[in-house]
Amino acid sequence: MDRTNRKIDQLRRQIPSFACEPGCHDCCGPVTASSEEMARLPHKSDAEHDAALAHWNCVHLGPHGCEAYDERPLICRLFGTTASLPCPRGCGPKTPTTPQVEKQVHQLIASTRQVLV
Ligand code: SF4
Ligand code: SF4
Repeated sequence: MDRTNRKIDQLRRQIPSFACEPGCHDCCGPVTASSEEMARLPHKSDAEHDAALAHWNCVHLGPHGCEAYDERPLICRLFGTTASLPCPRGCGPKTPTTPQVEKQVHQLIASTRQVLV
């Protein structure tokens, strides 16, 4: 496993999870991810991407929420866990993501070629 994949796994472990409001997916929409993260997500066709984008949705959002939850990108994991990305519904973990980890996530995003999920 290469350096980026190891870093992704390390950061995933350091972002705390939390329970969302049941049925809520307000913060899901078009997001970007590195090719390493894309490789972990289920493949979607161009037609599926176009259909999702037409509604400004993420292609992995299904009727019951994220259908790729276990492999969702870092930016999805970070949302709601830091003061700069607060959940509009007031949900979040007891202990937020540390500023150091947040910075590392943004550094990884900035240092990898991002593509639309
Ligand atoms: S983080 Fe907040 S806005 Fe996003 S899905 Fe969870 S409850 Fe909804
Ligand atoms: S990958 Fe999942 S959590 Fe992230 S925006 Fe898409 S549906 Fe939402």
